[in-house]
Amino acid sequence: RPVSAPSRFPSALDALRTVYGFEAFRGDQAAIVDQVISGGDAVVLMPTGGGKSVCYQVPALVREGTGLVVSPLIALMHDQVDALVANGVRAAYLNSTQTAAERAGVERAYLAGELDLLYVAPERLNGEQTLRLLERGALSVIAIDEAHCVSQWGHDFRPDYLALGGLAERFPGVPRLALTATATRETHREITERLRLPEARHFVASFDRPNIRYRIEPKAEPRKQLLQFIRAQPEGSAGIVYALSRKSVEQTAAYLAQQGIDAIPYHAGLEAGVRAAHQSRFLREDGVVVVATIAFGMGIDKPDVRFVAHIDLPKSVEGYYQETGRAGRDGAPAVAWMAYGLGDVVQQRRMIQQSDGDRAIQQRQSQHLDAMLALCETVACRRQNLLDYFGQESGPCGNCDTCLEPPETWDGLVAAQKLLSTIVRLQRERGQSFGAGHLIDILRGASTDRIRKLGHDRLSTYGIGEDLSEQDWRSVIRQLLARGLLASQGEYGTLALSEASAGVLRGESPVPLRKDVIGRTTQAAVRKV
Ligand code: ADP
Ligand code: ZN
Repeated sequence: RPVSAPSRFPSALDALRTVYGFEAFRGDQAAIVDQVISGGDAVVLMPTGGGKSVCYQVPALVREGTGLVVSPLIALMHDQVDALVANGVRAAYLNSTQTAAERAGVERAYLAGELDLLYVAPERLNGEQTLRLLERGALSVIAIDEAHCVSQWGHDFRPDYLALGGLAERFPGVPRLALTATATRETHREITERLRLPEARHFVASFDRPNIRYRIEPKAEPRKQLLQFIRAQPEGSAGIVYALSRKSVEQTAAYLAQQGIDAIPYHAGLEAGVRAAHQSRFLREDGVVVVATIAFGMGIDKPDVRFVAHIDLPKSVEGYYQETGRAGRDGAPAVAWMAYGLGDVVQQRRMIQQSDGDRAIQQRQSQHLDAMLALCETVACRRQNLLDYFGQESGPCGNCDTCLEPPETWDGLVAAQKLLSTIVRLQRERGQSFGAGHLIDILRGASTDRIRKLGHDRLSTYGIGEDLSEQDWRSVIRQLLARGLLASQGEYGTLALSEASAGVLRGESPVPLRKDVIGRTTQAAVRKV
C-alpha cells in the first residue's frame, strides 16, 4: 500500500496564511481551491499575475498525498521549488538537469510520502517509467500548468502535452486542474477536450489589466523612439524591452547604455553566468532596463516592472498579451509600448511563407499575425480589441493611446487605387513584381537608375503619387497589408493584389486609414512630465 504524504494543514485558509503569509484568497482562488479539495476537476483561465500557483499548491497541502505539477519550463520549476522549500513546503522536481543520484533521492522521498509537491517536465510523463513510479506512490492532485501548450494551433504547442490526457485514466481518483494565462475560446475548448476534463468546473477570470496603458506607434527610427519613450518614464523605472533577434538585443542594449540608460542584454546566447548576473540585477536593483528576446520573463516574478516595450512585432496577440502582462503586476500604473512598421509586416509574412510547417500551420500563423496587425492598426480602443480576442466584451477603456488621443483618419481610397493599379500594370504588361521601395519610387516619380533602366518612367502611373511623402506611402502600404487589401509574397516581400484588392480598385467602399504621427504617443508622454 503506497504511503501518502499526510495532510499538512486542516484548512485551505490555514495553509494560505501559514505558508504564504497572505490574509485572504483573491478572485476565484477560494472557489478553485474548494473545487479541487473536494475532489473535482477545474479548468482555470487566469491572466499572468492572477495567482494561479496558490490554486494547486494549497489543495496539495491540504489533501493527503503528493501534488503533481506538470510544468514545461525548467527555470520556472527551479524557482518555484526553491521558493516553496524556503517557505517550509516539501517540494522537489524531476527533470533532465539532475544526476541519476539526485533523481533517485527524489523518487525515494516521493514513495516514502515525504513530498507535498512534485514538479515534473511534460516529456517525463510521455513514457512509462515516471508514470509507473507515480503509481507506486500517492498523488493528491494533478496540476497541468501552461495548459495552452496542448493546443496544436496555439503559439506555444508542445507535442508532449498531448499525452497528458492519458493521466485521466491512469489516476482516476485524483482531481486534475489545467491552468493557463492565455486562451482564446478555441484554445479553451481544446484544453477541455484534449486533457480530458469533461466534468471540470471552469473558472475564467477577467483578462483585463486596467493599470497597463497600451501604446502602439509607427516605427521610423526605432532606437530613438525607444529612447524617447524610456526617458519619458518616471526616474528609476524598471522595464523590459523585447526584440526578436539576439543581435538586435545586443545592439539596442549597447545603444541605450551609451545614452545613459542602465540597460543590459539578456538572451539564450549569453554565457549562463552572465545571464544569471543580469537577471539578478534586474530583480534586485532599481531602474534596470533589460533588453531581451521573448524567452526572458517567463516565471520572473518582479511585481514592479513599470514598462514593457516591443521594438519588433510579436507573432501573435497571445504573445503580446503575455509579454506586456509582465508590466505592473503590483497593480500600479505601467505602460506597454510598441513601435512597429512596414518592415515587420513584410518580414513576418515572409517567415511564415518560408517556414516548413504544412499549409494548415502556415495558415494559422497567418491568422495570428493578422490579429496582431488588427490590434496595431485599430482606430478604436486597444484594450477592447485585446479583450475581444480573448472572448471578453468591454467598452472603451480610457487608458490606451487611441482612447486618450483618438487617431485622425483620412480616406485612403484614391491612394490605394494608385498603388494597386501600378502593381496591376507591372504584373499584366510586363510580368514583374516589386517591393515597397521601388513601387514608392514609381509613384513619387523618382529618377533612379533602376527606374530608368526598367523604363518605369514611361508607366502611366509614374509620378501620380507625388502628393504623399515616402513615409506616407509606407504607412498606406503597411495599413493595406494589415487589412488584407494588399498581399506580400515570396522571399523579397514583393507586393501583389489580394482577393480583397478588387473591391478597392472598383472603388466600392472608402478605405479609412490612420494618420501616422511618429512619436506622437511618446511626445504626449513627454509633455505630461
Ligand atoms: P500566476 O502564476 O498566475 O502568474 P502567481 O501565482 O505567480 O501568478 O502569483 C502572482 C503574484 O500574486 C505573486 O507575487 C503572489 O505571491 C501573489 N499572490 C497570489 N495569491 C495571492 C493572495 N491570495 N494574496 C496576495 N497575494 C497573492
Ligand atoms: Zn482604450
